[in-house]
Formats: sequence, C-alpha cells, structure tokens
Amino acid sequence: MEYRVLILGSNSALPAYGRHPSAQYLRFGGHNFLLDCGEGTQIQMQRFRAKGRKLSHVFITHLHGDHFFGIFGLLQSFNLLNRTEALSIFGPPGIKDLIYRILQLSGNPLQYPCEINEIEAKERTLLYDAENTSVYAFPLKHRVPCNGFIFAEKRPSVSLCKDKLEEYGVHPHLRESLRRGEDYRNEEGEVIPAELFYKKMADPRVYAYCSDTMPFPELITYLEGVTTLYHEATFLNTEKARAEETGHSTAKQAAEAALNSSAKKLIIGHFSSRYRDFGPLVKEAKETFSSTYAAVEGRWMDLV
Ligand SMILES: [Zn+2]
Ligand SMILES: [Zn+2]
Repeated sequence: MEYRVLILGSNSALPAYGRHPSAQYLRFGGHNFLLDCGEGTQIQMQRFRAKGRKLSHVFITHLHGDHFFGIFGLLQSFNLLNRTEALSIFGPPGIKDLIYRILQLSGNPLQYPCEINEIEAKERTLLYDAENTSVYAFPLKHRVPCNGFIFAEKRPSVSLCKDKLEEYGVHPHLRESLRRGEDYRNEEGEVIPAELFYKKMADPRVYAYCSDTMPFPELITYLEGVTTLYHEATFLNTEKARAEETGHSTAKQAAEAALNSSAKKLIIGHFSSRYRDFGPLVKEAKETFSSTYAAVEGRWMDLV
C-alpha cells in the first residue's frame, strides 16, 4: 500500500516564482484523493504524471480562489476525456451550486456520475469510510468557513508471531481465539496473554491537511492520533500580526501545532509570495519542530 503525497501547489493567494496555489495529490491505502484544487492544478497533474482518472474524491477546504479555482477546468477535462468513473467532491456550503452553475453556463454539464457534498464541520466528522481508510473533516479558523481533513489508516488486523506460537506449542485451532484477544492457557493451566503472540505493529498512519488556518486551541484535539501533519505556514513570525489579521499562521505557529500534537513529521506550505526563498520559513519551523519539510512542487513526500 502506498502512503505518499505529491505536492502540486505550495504558494498562497498569488502564484509566484514558479510556485502554484494549493493542491496535493494523495495516495493513501489504495485510494487516490485530491486535496484542494487551486488554479492550474490539472496542468500540474499532467506535468507530474498524476492520473486524474484514478481520482475518486476531491476535498476542497474553502472557497478562496487559491484552493478552488482549478476545479472547473479539471471537471471539464474529465468530460472531454469521456470519464465514466464516479467522482465525489466534498467542500464547504455553496460549492455545489457554484460548480453546477458554471459548468451548465459554459455548456459543459457533467457527463459522469459526480456527487457534490457540502460540509461545514463543527467537530471531527466522518466523511468517508472505506475498508482500510477513514476520512474526517474538522473545522479550521479562517476568514470564511474552512474544513481541514484527516486521512486515517485503519488498524491492520492482528498477525501472530510464528516463533512464539511454536515456542508455546499453540495448537493451530487456537490461533483464531488469540486473534480475537482471548488469552492462551497451556497444559499446565498457566495463562499466557494473547498480546504476547502478536507481531509488533506500526502505528496507523494518519495524515492531516490544515490549510488555511490561524492557530486556535481546539486544533490539538482535532489532530489526535495524527502522524504526518501538513500545516500552512504563510508568514515568518515577524509577520505574526499580519498572519492574525488575514486568518493565517506563521512557520513557528505551524511547528507549535506539530509539537503539541502526536505528529512525527510536519510539512509546511502555502508560502506567501513575499518570500522568494522559503528556506527561512523551514528554518524557523525547525527551531520548534525538527522534522519539518517544505512542500516542494513535484515532490512525492512519504507519510510516516
Ligand atoms: Zn489560501
Ligand atoms: Zn484562504
């Protein structure tokens, strides 16, 4: 199973220095998801060979253009390419009417099954539940209604350690009860805890996408269990007042969110066009949270 994200856009409102507005192509447990769809997203997908046909879901955080204006071109291209696969879109209130109306007026009503779901999460809310992945929305704090999204790997089923089974001479017909968590009783009547036979499992991978937001206390509770965090870092901390005024975060604030959560890795992006070089933003975040990486367009980043 793949757990990786391709950065398609890493800049904030204005495209600058070859950087594009927000979009990410997420491969998560056999699923292909698009997170945000800023202008030029489909061109970036072509450039980096991310297949649009494979996308099953698009998640739009909010209706600021730098997260959303690319959706019309993408959906129209799916029409022209005779897409037949179903597509689900999740986005804030108003998105459904906007999409249908613009495509209708442009003479390109959708030719393939497309379900558009409007959400304005007030708490961590389950959106999509598949065999091995759950997707949640949660509220962010921005100038307009804005949802963050969480992609969670479901805990893999228990697998038993062969060496331990042999060591304790466990009969094959008792293996299923061990998997169910029932302890093993040997011939002497001694009780051996079921966990002793379990192979050590890695923590389930949980990816959170937080763009755009200013810091707020409840964020930490929404991020419970997160292992890789994407958090916007529009400004340096010297521009903290500007960040607050515009409903954004500084690199330091993004790193503090990672530090206060269970995240092992932080990806920062949504860089302001006032920064030609985003190196200082990464440096600032690393001072608080050392496992910080910049969202670099065209780069596949592993989710831990
Ligand atoms: Zn933005
Ligand atoms: Zn915004």
